[in-house]
Amino acid sequence: MNATMGKDEILTWLHEEKPERLKELWQRANEMRIAHVGNEVHLRGLVEISNYCARQCAYCGLRSGNASLGRYRMEADEIFVAAMQAVKYGYGTVVMQAGEDYAITTDWMAGVIRRIKAETPLAVTLSLGERSEEDLAAWRAAGADRYLLRFETSDRELFNAIHPPLGNRPCNRFAILQQLKALGYEIGSGVMVGIPGQTYQSLANDLALFREMDLDMIGIGPFIPHPATPLGNGTGRQATTEQVPNTELMVYKAVALTRLIRPDANIPATTALATINKKNGRELGLQRGANVFMPNLTPLKYRRLYEIYPAKACIEETGIACNRCLTSRISMIGRSVGRGPGGRRNRNIAQALPSKESCHA
Ligand code: SAM
Ligand code: SF4
Repeated sequence: MNATMGKDEILTWLHEEKPERLKELWQRANEMRIAHVGNEVHLRGLVEISNYCARQCAYCGLRSGNASLGRYRMEADEIFVAAMQAVKYGYGTVVMQAGEDYAITTDWMAGVIRRIKAETPLAVTLSLGERSEEDLAAWRAAGADRYLLRFETSDRELFNAIHPPLGNRPCNRFAILQQLKALGYEIGSGVMVGIPGQTYQSLANDLALFREMDLDMIGIGPFIPHPATPLGNGTGRQATTEQVPNTELMVYKAVALTRLIRPDANIPATTALATINKKNGRELGLQRGANVFMPNLTPLKYRRLYEIYPAKACIEETGIACNRCLTSRISMIGRSVGRGPGGRRNRNIAQALPSKESCHA
């Protein structure tokens, strides 16, 4: 069981149900995590800067077709105040995430990034969707360090079915990840587990792809149905006979296997995982391969409106409450909070991603 694990072995593990075998998987992933990224848990302050979105993803509550959702876009000053909270709580990174919101213009966003970089020591991560190469280049020049863009599933047919193109612009997240890497960003990607129509084989393909992609960060969370979306109200893709369940257990398997496949990647225990097990989903994720968590710094008045899926964890807690809760959870499992930006240790900027043609194209 190691970084050269083949697809068949991944598949066998995804089907594994025996508790004693799974215990072995958790243990190996935990040992690999300790050996390659240590005991620190890096905290990235998450600011959800806008819930406007031009897209119609069949899985997400922010899709433009969801008319029942009240929309907001944070002011530059509000974002800066949230970033200063990240500094105050000792987080090394601020992550600015949003729907694909084209009222977030190139220059406005560059100004926000420049101010944070000039006035704080924070690493800046962006997660703003499939923006143009010009935008990505301008934001990198303004000082952005990292970009998160999940490929969601490597099954092209399934991806196209759940992620319609915007107008007639072709959509290829692998090509964008390549652009980001060429621009010098640290890149993060990842998948949802249990998307209706996702087979065991396709999830095994996703995990095998992580090895080829040399990702700095890999986010894996359960698909959680939202009733205002096609995948949540039964009008979209249906489950297959070989359907991967969107369970907590399946997410732990995917996280643990990812740690074995990509020993030095930064892997978050995702908010979606914390949502399906509010009691200790985060802790179990951290004990089965993960080493990052993203406490929410979005102002409370907006938090509920960033409703990707229902009953999201941590929508009532203030920044300070989130900070106290997480630091105590981290120390309860014998881990320490990482200091500084917490970038990937052995970053290999030369290694290429798979060719554009191999996925989604
Ligand atoms: N708009 C940007 C994008 O799509 O990359 C960033 C924001 S988007 C809300 C961030 C991530 O939320 C997506 O990459 C997707 O994996 C996740 N997400 C969306 N809907 C979800 C759902 N119903 N269940 C679980 N995760 C979901
Ligand atoms: Fe928009 Fe991202 Fe949600 Fe798709 S996943 S609807 S791009 S916010």
